[in-house]
Amino acid sequence: ARSRGLSWVLASKTAAEEVELRALNHGAEQYMSLDSSSSLHKARIDKLVSDRRRFVSMERDARVDGMTQIANRREFQFRLEQDWQRVLDRQQGSISLLLIDLDHFKPYNDNYGHLAGDACLKRAASVFKSSLKRSSDLVARYGGEEFAVLVLDVSQDQAMQIAERLRSALQEDAIEHQASPVNDFVTASIGVARIECGGQSSVSDLIKLADDGLYAAKGSGRNQVQAPPM
Ligand code: GH3
Ligand code: MG
Ligand code: MG
Repeated sequence: ARSRGLSWVLASKTAAEEVELRALNHGAEQYMSLDSSSSLHKARIDKLVSDRRRFVSMERDARVDGMTQIANRREFQFRLEQDWQRVLDRQQGSISLLLIDLDHFKPYNDNYGHLAGDACLKRAASVFKSSLKRSSDLVARYGGEEFAVLVLDVSQDQAMQIAERLRSALQEDAIEHQASPVNDFVTASIGVARIECGGQSSVSDLIKLADDGLYAAKGSGRNQVQAPPM
């Protein structure tokens, strides 16, 4: 039987080598001769089910950051390329990228310890995730204390507003940070860039542009949102 996301098994009345070979060559996971005992059938099906579960869980692990349980960088890169291809196919649309970097996170670790640092990263990930509204919005762990957010089909102004919402949501979550020179709580700087169909920039420029915005936000005092300087 072939079903959604499941293996398919060919059951045959007789054990015919030629039929079995054909079934396996066409992608069957298992060939079961109905001559064999029902306990053997059950053992084979149980094994298929457990193999499939392990596969699904490995597939998820390949896309999700183990610590924060949001998308990892690989998934981010995949979604960015896929979303951009869709824009090109439809000949319309835009992608906005928010690059988020926690401010003075090294002193956070130094002051509260690495485990508290990990807990803080988890909390920040969850704040960012719950501050996004559309199912097409993606938040990913981009690296260490950096996060990336993809938002489709919004204007630059709207992308800046979303970034501002994330920035203030983190600050309002009020994670104490006594070692921060900019605030009593953990804050983030965010760079925002946008590319659109028919524009001059392409997906390879997007990350660089958002990074320029982030650099500007850090340079202007942190805990703020900036677009790349003109
Ligand atoms: P800035 O405001 O300029 O971004 O300063 P910063 O201290 O955040 O930047 P810096 O790049 O100097 O330090 C980043 C710190 O993030 C250093 C590193 O130990 C910490 N970090 C990165 N990944 C993890 C992690 O998985 N867990 C913890 N606890 N800390 C991490
Ligand atoms: Mg950083
Ligand atoms: Mg930082």
